[in-house]
Amino acid sequence: MISKNMKILVEKSAGISALFSEGKRMREVLGEENVFDFGIGNPNVNAPLSVNKTAIELLETMDSLALHSYTDGTGIPSVRQAIAESVNRRFQEEYTGENIVMTAGAAGGLNVILKVLLDQGDEVLTFAPYFSEYDVYVANAGGRLIAIEPNVPSFLPDAKKLEEAITPKTKAIIINNPNNPTGVVYDVQTLGKIAGVLKAKEKELGTSIYLISDEPYRELVFDGATVPYIPKLYGNTIVAYSFSKSLSLPGDRIGYLTIPSTVQDFQEVVFGAGVANRILGFVNAPVLQQLVVAKCCDEKSDIAFYDKNREILYSALSQYGFECAKPQGAFYLFVKSMEEDEFAFVNKAKEFGILMTPGSGFGCKGYVRIAYCVARDTIERALPSFEKLAKAYQK
Ligand code: PLP
Repeated sequence: MISKNMKILVEKSAGISALFSEGKRMREVLGEENVFDFGIGNPNVNAPLSVNKTAIELLETMDSLALHSYTDGTGIPSVRQAIAESVNRRFQEEYTGENIVMTAGAAGGLNVILKVLLDQGDEVLTFAPYFSEYDVYVANAGGRLIAIEPNVPSFLPDAKKLEEAITPKTKAIIINNPNNPTGVVYDVQTLGKIAGVLKAKEKELGTSIYLISDEPYRELVFDGATVPYIPKLYGNTIVAYSFSKSLSLPGDRIGYLTIPSTVQDFQEVVFGAGVANRILGFVNAPVLQQLVVAKCCDEKSDIAFYDKNREILYSALSQYGFECAKPQGAFYLFVKSMEEDEFAFVNKAKEFGILMTPGSGFGCKGYVRIAYCVARDTIERALPSFEKLAKAYQK
């Protein structure tokens, strides 16, 4: 018999599992060419050529034992150093390898850092809408995720609401920039206010509040938007980064945590992260992928492809009467449901072959998420169906 906890998790993840099976069911009923699946955020542009080339070169030239051996839980020292230098070039910092911990993607990094920081019952704040897996990641470490209600329609984090939500039990806050599911990029003024609140609350309560910045979409920005580097605003920040989206390597499970020396109890946090990597079951981030990203970390997959998808879909949907803020990052549109119950709206869309994700899963009812990381052809062929869907509500 599976545990009660697992039963709850299975129920919670039913939405995502349902997306996979629903897509399959719809393809069987409507035919492959009549289904437009915007459900899952799986990158669909190739990794840069240099990624495969580097992997092949490593496999052909490196000593087999060295290439396939266990490494330190924090990562290979030369890789940590190469990543630190890349981060320094981009954000004018002075990190060394000591500030970097290699992880199995951002999911690995988030689970590791939460395991390091949380005691049973500690509270972690986040701003809705938020990546639904945060609930589970925080629970895995014995904590409790508290979502601050969405700030509609800008979806920018609200410093005032944060101030009201912080309690003596608040151990951390997770911010995701650019945001999944809204595609909104948090600007420096907004983040500056958040930093101000955190500093004041740390002083008032005599506690340490860690800011965890989840940044797997950092490179996916459009219209010249920039993603502020939060450690410059708030020293007690840990950044979770991933190559899943920037290099299109979601299945290779590679990313890293940046733990600046300004983080409270920095040495212990880094050491703890190495231990957490081991005891959570990752043991170490995949060695081949560590070595690949050490060489390819300054490259990007074809971001312009997502930008074009965004332009086509956003302008068509606006023209058809859908309400949605133009996203500046990630590869999602967060669209207002055309009826109050967004589940009914999602079901209506299925009649036209369109599959999208209800906003409630992200803590924001009344909206739906459209993941536009799909083939261009899928977007172009889906437009008449979106138009019909809008018309169904305009009668
Ligand atoms: N955080 C957010 C906001 C995400 O959207 C995702 C994946 O889609 C992750 C973390 C996990 O990413 P990774 O594949 O790097 O573990």
